[in-house]
Amino acid sequence: MLNVEGLHVSYGSIKALQGVSIALSQGECVAIVGSNGAGKTTLLKTICGLLKPNKGRVEFEGKSLVGKMAYDIANMAVAHVPEGRRVFTEMSVLDNLIMGSYVKEAKAHRRESLEYVFSLFPRLAERKDQLAGTMSGGEQQMLAVARGLMLKPKLLILDEPSSGLSPLIVEQMYEKLGEIHKTTDMAMLVVEQNVPIALSIADRGYVLENGSIHVSGTSDELMVDPEVKAAYLGFH
Ligand code: ATP
Repeated sequence: MLNVEGLHVSYGSIKALQGVSIALSQGECVAIVGSNGAGKTTLLKTICGLLKPNKGRVEFEGKSLVGKMAYDIANMAVAHVPEGRRVFTEMSVLDNLIMGSYVKEAKAHRRESLEYVFSLFPRLAERKDQLAGTMSGGEQQMLAVARGLMLKPKLLILDEPSSGLSPLIVEQMYEKLGEIHKTTDMAMLVVEQNVPIALSIADRGYVLENGSIHVSGTSDELMVDPEVKAAYLGFH
């Protein structure tokens, strides 16, 4: 469904990605993990058309995403939940959700999508008229995910959903993401610094280091990989 091949991306003389290839099938949840500055955000931004690669291909259902505008990518049912939530703070929870279903196909299913996200996140239903900016960090992250779901995506891309949240909230957030994965056939691509939590819901993972894929495998394989354990899981 998503095929990224031989991606090279630079910021001036800084080589952020050097020949990255990943693949994702329908219904799969794949984690991209790695430390600060490994190139995770650059990879997502390139997949979502926000950055142009120097070399390489990004294809979704056989169509290139390179150079496409955000609207066109949304129209292809690819939802991007950016790092740092970025909800519309001066708008109500409900209006934020409605903004998530702005493309034609999603608009036609707005009512059922709202029912779905409200059943998944009852807190958002309780707070639907509240200004998004007055919600807690965890609630805003849930809203950001729910807004992505309002697109009725075939592919949901999440950039560091754990960022800036307390451990308990991170656990609750991932419980929901795991539920979405188990109950839908949506493909999910999750970028995380918090490696154990990402692998706890993902089927497979890629470890990105210094702009290249260092190790890849099923989550079970990565959890017992000695290098991954030493570098990211806190065991030696
Ligand atoms: P983090 O988890 O801290 O967000 P990351 O794995 O997402 O890290 P990127 O943000 O993709 O990493 O950064 C990859 C490399 O590219 C880093 O060396 C970073 O300093 C560099 N970089 C990122 N954005 C820019 C930019 N706009 N201009 C110059 N260099 C950049």
